Amino acid sequence: MRVGKSDSIVGSLALHGGDPVREVWLPYARQSVGDEDVAAVVEVLEGDWITQGPKIEAFEKTVAEYSGAKYGVAFCNGTAALHAACDAAGIGTGDEAVTTPLTFAATANAVVYCGGTPRFADVRPDTLNIDPDGVAKMITDRTKAILTVDFGGHPAELDPIMETARRMGLIVIEDAAHALGGRYRNRPVGSIADMTILSFHPVKHITTGEGGLVLTNDAERAERLRTFRHHGMERPFANRPWHYAISHLGYNYRITDIQCALGLSQLGRAEELLTQREALAHRYRERLTHSPFVTLPTVLEEVRHAWHIFVVLLNLERIRVDRDEVMRAMRAENIGVQLHYPLVHLHPYYRRGFDYGEGLCPVAESLFPRLMTLPLFPLMTDSDQEDVLAALDKVLSHFAQSDVPAG
Ligand SMILES: *Cc1c(COP(=O)(O)O)cnc(C)c1O
Repeated sequence: MRVGKSDSIVGSLALHGGDPVREVWLPYARQSVGDEDVAAVVEVLEGDWITQGPKIEAFEKTVAEYSGAKYGVAFCNGTAALHAACDAAGIGTGDEAVTTPLTFAATANAVVYCGGTPRFADVRPDTLNIDPDGVAKMITDRTKAILTVDFGGHPAELDPIMETARRMGLIVIEDAAHALGGRYRNRPVGSIADMTILSFHPVKHITTGEGGLVLTNDAERAERLRTFRHHGMERPFANRPWHYAISHLGYNYRITDIQCALGLSQLGRAEELLTQREALAHRYRERLTHSPFVTLPTVLEEVRHAWHIFVVLLNLERIRVDRDEVMRAMRAENIGVQLHYPLVHLHPYYRRGFDYGEGLCPVAESLFPRLMTLPLFPLMTDSDQEDVLAALDKVLSHFAQSDVPAG
């Protein structure tokens, strides 16, 4: 008997020729830009300043207020902000900084830009953030700083880390690219570490196209960051304001007024956007908490999670294929799952340049093959989210080990 497409293929994986759960690709993240954002940018374009004007300071002040910090210094992207923070922390040739392997490579790269060596402390198996006990063990007499990351939006365990840093005379830099609006023990992310870094890339909470910012409570450090952003340039000659001096090496890491106008407008909606992320994340957690196929990272009582991304850990012993095959199958269903992140110490550059390899961070390495990120962004609809859950169910029950009851 000839079998028609509808008989043979409906219900089978799109990866194997079946119909996908949805027709249109759902990305894992995307910006939310509204009419008032567009109007704010146009207004700047029609004015006197498109860069180095008043919008930059206004944006810096507003982000600092929102985050409970005294000063904000904006940069052309989050990576430049990290570089500036590492410089302001005094990291130089031969120095070390302790950080997590489970982050975007920029966190560690920034240490290398300054001539330093990133040392990787392992992560906690529950929150996936850097393990404070592991941090203490990695400190040597060359250590200058600790770089924490709020992985996925879960604020890092800063109290024990700050305590270690104070005792050892180290600077703490919090890479909060995932955590604008988050809170740790009732304090806003941005008010706790010596410096806190934000990114305004379109996948992040609010966007300036490209952009970043360093928050700090220290006026001198803020000034150093501003100088670093602009070639290391100072104007020390009161009677010759046209003259300048390069006091130390800086870069052109400036952001524009166009970008800051967008950022200011976006920041006005930061709470609304975060509430939308929270609602989606809570729904995912409700629906996936009893799945036999995935484990959800822990959310500690003491934090407000900022839900930059929604990460699940696949229970690989319950399925017949690896994470990459699950991702291929999900993407064939038009669900844009992602991987956060390839472990930093295992990138070819770090293996070659620093002699790192497997075995350095056993917890992160054992979790890595299980990581998968589901789509999450404020403009995602309930029906988009149902598609993600339907595709996940379809793919994982297809790949289930025969002894696992369907989730
Ligand atoms: C996005 C991100 C950065 C870099 O930000 P850019 O603005 O893209 O340069 C740094 N660290 C982490 C953890 C990030 O997610």
